[in-house]
This record gives sequence, structure tokens and C-alpha cells, in this order.
Amino acid sequence: MILFLGTKPGKTISKSLPNVVCPYCENKGTLTRVTSTTYFHLFWISLFRVGTSTTISCSHCKGTYFEDEFTEEMKQSIED
Ligand SMILES: [Zn+2]
Repeated sequence: MILFLGTKPGKTISKSLPNVVCPYCENKGTLTRVTSTTYFHLFWISLFRVGTSTTISCSHCKGTYFEDEFTEEMKQSIED
């Protein structure tokens, strides 16, 4: 019998950050936070979440920021 288990991507949540200034192009309200989760599955049934990654991207300069590059403003907007 073959066991189908492993990880699969869960849903991706996008949220715009209207009050945060992009650190590169200095435009306000152009940033979007994207949170994606990875699930552990058995026979394609999600059992539990194994990881979450958050990136913030700018629609103006097309810049993408990873968690270790977030400014204080970005971190505060995530906690809200
Ligand atoms: Zn930008």
C-alpha cells in the first residue's frame, strides 16, 4: 500500500496596507501583504499547518520584501 503524504500549499491571503509607505519608492498605499500557508496532508486531506510565510509587495515599484526586511511600519500593520 502506498501512503500519500507530504506537504501541500494552503490558501493564500492578500491584504492591502493602505497606511504603509514603501521603503523603496516612498509611495503610500501601494503595498500588499501576501500570507501563504503550507499544510501537512495524508491522502490529500490537510491535517495541520506546517509553516506560514509572509511577503509584502509593492504595486508601484514591483519590489518584494521578505520578513527579515520588513520596516517597523510593516510589522505594526501585520499585528493589527
Ligand atoms: Zn514601492
